[in-house]
Amino acid sequence: MASTPTVSGDILAKYEPVIGLEVHVQLLTASKIFCSCSTRFGDSPNTNVCPVCLGLPGALPVLNRKAVEFAALAAMALECRVNRVSIFARKNYFYPDLPKGYQISQYDKPLAEFGFIDIDVNGGKKKIGITRLHLEEDAGKSLHEGFADSAHKTAIDLNRTGVPLAEIVSEPDMRSAEEAYEYLTRLKEIILYTGVSDCNMEEGSLRCDANISVRPRGQKEFGTKTEVKNVNSFRFVKQALEYEIERHIEVLESGGKIAQESRLYNSHEGRTYGMRSKEQAHDYRYFPEPDLLPLVVDEKWQAAIRASLPELPEARRQRMIKEYGITAGDAHTLTLTRAMADQFESAARGAKNPKRVANLVQSELLGRLKAQGLELDQSPISMAGVTTSADLVESGAISGKMLKDLYDLCFDRAQDFAAVYEAEGRPEQSRDTSSLEKLADELIAANPKQVEQYRAGKKTMIGFFVGQVMKASKGQANPQLVNEILTKKLEG
Ligand code: ADP
Ligand code: MG
Ligand code: ZN
Repeated sequence: MASTPTVSGDILAKYEPVIGLEVHVQLLTASKIFCSCSTRFGDSPNTNVCPVCLGLPGALPVLNRKAVEFAALAAMALECRVNRVSIFARKNYFYPDLPKGYQISQYDKPLAEFGFIDIDVNGGKKKIGITRLHLEEDAGKSLHEGFADSAHKTAIDLNRTGVPLAEIVSEPDMRSAEEAYEYLTRLKEIILYTGVSDCNMEEGSLRCDANISVRPRGQKEFGTKTEVKNVNSFRFVKQALEYEIERHIEVLESGGKIAQESRLYNSHEGRTYGMRSKEQAHDYRYFPEPDLLPLVVDEKWQAAIRASLPELPEARRQRMIKEYGITAGDAHTLTLTRAMADQFESAARGAKNPKRVANLVQSELLGRLKAQGLELDQSPISMAGVTTSADLVESGAISGKMLKDLYDLCFDRAQDFAAVYEAEGRPEQSRDTSSLEKLADELIAANPKQVEQYRAGKKTMIGFFVGQVMKASKGQANPQLVNEILTKKLEG
């Protein structure tokens, strides 16, 4: 948790936080952005390198077409305008993991600009602007521990040098740590849907720098910002921001000034530390990369990229709510991943009642998967199995209780629904009517008023009787059969 809640609520409320995020997303190309070295994660250090990514003199970069297409696809998914012409630029700085002494990035002419993401805020929507999305190469990795003889030494792994990144810079539009968390969640969801990155934070495929300032409410100008670098989970970004908000306010309240600097978040201590005073853009001596031509993504190429844009999560949720008559909550759970949404839809499209499929997936399938620590694609019950079972309940062949038992067997035996259903001899819920008839007779005798109302034309009263019989049978009875029996008796 973020620590030091030393500022009182009253004082916190006097200030408004302003937050802008810079997110680096590793693009899922097989080879690096300017050479043909592999981007595979976890290979032995310094095995995926060549003169280009090692920055040896005379080696020339050649742009990876796929990296451009992935970045442009992400940009389109984020509602950006993709520029016809963009320019690669050298960003000069010294760091041991940057062998060239500069990073090839984009500066004043980025690949894409003017996008946005809609986030959910207090039940409403809020647009968070995306300033730009540009392409750049990753640097290498310094290892300070975990290798042989690591005391007082640092080792460098240059496998990551030259891996393609899309940097996505937001406008300073967020006003709380929660909004930042929500933005990151939506951003990751969109990127995952496009398939251009796996957004795996543990492997560094998605990294976030959080910029934060505060200003007295009502003031127009922004305050001085600090930047929390490379936080490796969304929860920690939120905590780091909460910490920084309070720290800024504390400094200002005590008459101090915020130093514009980069800071590191220590999640164990729940606090940030100053790292270095922030470089200004001019410190990097940006200039156009002389070894690369301007990048031209013309209309035709843009159209081809746009054609591979999948339906995005929010649009998909809205369509699914309409198409299958499911709730917003259902749609939310069922679109958490594109794979889940695809599977749900293939099941729902073939089912007699899609709403029932949605309920089954959520109430019976996801719970059991979670209990066993399984992912959806490891489920013993396939979506075809879910459809089959949903239809069996729908037609009254099996009861809800029987379905639960069959699902338990599927998980015990690691077998799909159809196999278990067959192995159990295609069980059917009892159509033994005598006990149901008896229950119906008792109910009718005990509720003369309701019977009278029914016979006077209030046909919906049947629901009351069916409900009572179902309750008495502990959900085992076939609702359709119960309905038939009751109708006959009430009419007769
Ligand atoms: P820098 O050159 O320091 O990296 P940029 O103008 O490129 O600054 O902005 C980087 C990020 O910081 C962007 O996401 C932007 O929205 C955000 N940002 C800029 N000014 C502020 C501010 N005063 N408070 C909070 N965030 C800010
Ligand atoms: Mg920046
Ligand atoms: Zn290389």
